[in-house]
Amino acid sequence: MSRFQAVEQANSRPSIDVKLPSNKISDYFATSVFTTDAMRQYISKEAYDSVLLSIQTGQKIDRKIADQVAGAMKAWAAERGATSYSHWFQPLTGATAEKHDTFFTLSGGKAIETFGADALVQQEPDASSFPSGGLRVTFEARGYTAWDPSSPAFIMSVGSSGKTLCIPTIFVSYTGDSLDYKAPLLKSLHLLETAAVPVCNYFDRNVTKVVATLGWEQEYFLVDEALFLARPDLVATGRTVLGAAAAKGQQLEDHYFGSIPERVYAFMLDMEVESHKLGIPIRTRHNEVAPGQYECAPIFEEANLAVDQNQLLMDLMDRIAKRHRLRVLLHEKPFAGINGSGKHNNWSLGTDTGKNLLSPGKTPKNNLQFLTFFINTIKAVSTHDNLLRAAIASAGNDHRLGANEAPPAIISVFIGTTLARILEELEQKVKSGKMDENEKAELKLDIHNKIPDLLMDNTDRNRTSPFAFTGNKFEIRAVGSSANCALPMTILNTIVAQQLVDFRTETEKLIKDGESKDGAILRVLRRYITESKSILFEGDNYSQEWADEAARRGLANVKTTPPALDFFITESAKKVLVGNNIYTDRELDARYEVALEIYKRKVEIEALTMADMVITQVIPSGMRYQADLISNLKGLHDLGIKKKALTAQTELLEEVTELINTLKAEADSMLLAIEKANKHHHAREIASAFCDTVKPYFDTIRAASDRLEQIIDDRYWALPKYRELLFIK
Ligand code: ADP
Ligand code: MG
Repeated sequence: MSRFQAVEQANSRPSIDVKLPSNKISDYFATSVFTTDAMRQYISKEAYDSVLLSIQTGQKIDRKIADQVAGAMKAWAAERGATSYSHWFQPLTGATAEKHDTFFTLSGGKAIETFGADALVQQEPDASSFPSGGLRVTFEARGYTAWDPSSPAFIMSVGSSGKTLCIPTIFVSYTGDSLDYKAPLLKSLHLLETAAVPVCNYFDRNVTKVVATLGWEQEYFLVDEALFLARPDLVATGRTVLGAAAAKGQQLEDHYFGSIPERVYAFMLDMEVESHKLGIPIRTRHNEVAPGQYECAPIFEEANLAVDQNQLLMDLMDRIAKRHRLRVLLHEKPFAGINGSGKHNNWSLGTDTGKNLLSPGKTPKNNLQFLTFFINTIKAVSTHDNLLRAAIASAGNDHRLGANEAPPAIISVFIGTTLARILEELEQKVKSGKMDENEKAELKLDIHNKIPDLLMDNTDRNRTSPFAFTGNKFEIRAVGSSANCALPMTILNTIVAQQLVDFRTETEKLIKDGESKDGAILRVLRRYITESKSILFEGDNYSQEWADEAARRGLANVKTTPPALDFFITESAKKVLVGNNIYTDRELDARYEVALEIYKRKVEIEALTMADMVITQVIPSGMRYQADLISNLKGLHDLGIKKKALTAQTELLEEVTELINTLKAEADSMLLAIEKANKHHHAREIASAFCDTVKPYFDTIRAASDRLEQIIDDRYWALPKYRELLFIK
């Protein structure tokens, strides 16, 4: 389809009516989820109690019970029109994967529907094509998926009749190595709980369970389907590798919180209805800063569930957008010169007594608990900032983290002026030696009295910080919009868990040496404040001054993915990750390889797509205009017009000709660079070659192409322009 046909189609598309199942979301919320309430109606009381206990304690579910649960799931799903089931898992590709089977089978020649414990608990998808970093040699290419009872099964609808019961699972190789995002996440959550409960017990004996909570905010772009399909780069890579800036970009910021276009609104409603049916508690929707950019966010949940829900949502968005003849772009940087997309991960810790451990409390004791978790989190990030950087590294995110866009590649923590002052005072006032009762009481009261200011300070949010405290939670803002939240969550859980273990060890030692509990806690916290000061930054993360200051503080500023990934395999990373059994040594090495390989593939696809577009679309467009200019010049010359009077045509012709030459030469060189890059043997070398020798062509080629786009006859330009992609809805 030509650009003009696409524009025509996009302009004339009606918005689709969305019927709400009911005016009350509560009428249909989670109706497609096999919740514990739903389960309760299908299985015996004993089985139900046993499953709940297993979910709460993480214990293995008995085979007989699993059989009952499977029967219940099948009956529940069949009543809702599902004819097949699928183990649903999160391989390292970043997308979700499903392997469908029907309930149908033959028994003695008779057709029956069946689904038992065997099918529920374990499956063997033919998974040889999923990335494994060499963990599965081809002859044992089979891995298996295993049921995760802590995340509920759900029914996914495709079209009006295709309904599938999806069972959240982990994905493991036959040798027992984990091949997905979920297994390490579950391990990290367990680790964090084990580490956090005893620390909570310093303040509250009643706490027996601590969970990490996650509330993500998902940014995305929408473009019309016809315009999308007319851009090979959007189709192949999810971003525009070429395209001159529109005269109107985001300068006016008039899109932000502006009214939502009708078609987009219909899409959002539809997505929300489907999300709500699937139990995803989406609550907010709005326009983002960039034109064509939007955001949605749910009410937070336990991290494991929230991760699953975000994966599910990304999948849903894609399907529902198609229904509205729109395409959703989850890429971190779909358009040059316009804000990219991120996925803020709001993270906190909640207890089974209903307390948010990162929420300032009402009593001095509560506030000491708050400060304990608050300061330990800062210390963990300070110790393992590089690991956090590695966890958010991807080809797409390089455009945000490494370029002139916040957040930067330097990991720092923003806590706001009130807390910064409280920490400063704590550092000054706590003595390094033993403190008497009066001193401690005074100090605790003093901290407590300052906390109310926090609520006011809460509005003072630093939008440029990659890791910010926002009143009652930390927010990792540097996660890529297309990323699986599981990895940054796994890393954060693990480093905080390790930190809490260290904290407890040190506190116990002081207590053993005769210090009181509060005194010991305060003294350890004081030292942590001193040790992690360099990670705190309250200013503009986007400024050159910060880059200089960070360098003086010794903070890393790694702008590209391959060297950022190296942080995964450092001694300190291995110590905290392998030492805590989140990954085995082999798994960590394999994941490193997989991440490098994915990076390389992404850059390679972008480069090949770009070369293809330049040769088959951009240059031919340029040549048509070149031909026009030539015949125009010839005609004018034939009329006897002097060369001196033909400067406009001559200059244009010269520039067009030069740009065409540049484009051809650079595209050819880039293809050679790809060939050369692929000759390296190790994943790291290949990734580096793509990063350092292929990617630089993106800029030179783009500059030439964008210039050509700006000077040639609009009718000849084959690719939908930015002004069309961004503003036609
Ligand atoms: P805003 O940042 O826009 O003011 P909120 O502070 O209510 O809005 O929350 C933003 C995001 O933080 C939401 O996605 C929400 O789910 C999440 N969130 C709020 N409290 C927590 C918490 N205790 N743990 C994890 N996420 C949370
Ligand atoms: Mg936010």
